[in-house]
Amino acid sequence: MAALEIHNVRKEFGSERVLKDVSISIDSGEFLILVGPSGCGKSTLMNAIAGLEPVTSGNIYIDGEDVTWRTPAERDIAMVFQSYALYPSMTVRQNISFGLEMRKVPKAERITAVERVADLLQISHLLERKPAQLSGGQRQRVAMGRALAREPKVYLFDEPLSNLDAKLRVDMRTEIKKLHQRLGTTIVYVTHDQVEAMTLADCIAVMRDGHILQLGSPDEVYNNPVDMFVAGFMGSPS
Ligand code: ADP
Ligand code: MG
Repeated sequence: MAALEIHNVRKEFGSERVLKDVSISIDSGEFLILVGPSGCGKSTLMNAIAGLEPVTSGNIYIDGEDVTWRTPAERDIAMVFQSYALYPSMTVRQNISFGLEMRKVPKAERITAVERVADLLQISHLLERKPAQLSGGQRQRVAMGRALAREPKVYLFDEPLSNLDAKLRVDMRTEIKKLHQRLGTTIVYVTHDQVEAMTLADCIAVMRDGHILQLGSPDEVYNNPVDMFVAGFMGSPS
């Protein structure tokens, strides 16, 4: 059974058709990378999977269950989006712990989980600070920590490393890869970065203008692009 199935999803904003019958099936434990030019509908698709925006038509299944009309909290997902704000009045520790508290995770486990992700993301020294006392990159790591503290069925990452400097981005990429190998969680991950795509993905979906043009292994998409657009986008050898 697919961990996540997106079936004929359409999304319209007024008369603009942003997602045009998108269908993708992702196996449990698979790392799917979604790439495509700015404005092609990647974030709209992520929002639809997360339940942040209702779809116009089509269905979304998590572990075989139709979640199309469930709220984000009722879907077993954790997300890191560029615009996903931290709670300004809470400390970093409380921000990371909050989602666990909502899910009635016992206190001792919450403390362990916060320490585990803080160590992983190198933010242990920031746990008692408020978001306003952090840099952009630090805030992004806290947002990442908040998602990683949980163990949902599916993680959704929408360009989670885009605000980080090059060194940290490479470190974090390595950490995410290790984490995926260790936990075997299902991940959908949007990136602009071809290197990130090639190193992280089990499977790459190339999107353009609301359609999935190609879905395949990094090797297939890179070496056997379906058209000039995919070739150009992936930097395939000609
Ligand atoms: P990407 O993430 O691939 O850059 P988006 O999914 O953010 O693209 O946007 C795809 C298209 O949908 C764009 O034309 C954008 O203007 C439009 N769009 C996204 N969100 C909204 C919204 N809330 N209302 C109206 N149009 C939107
Ligand atoms: Mg986007």
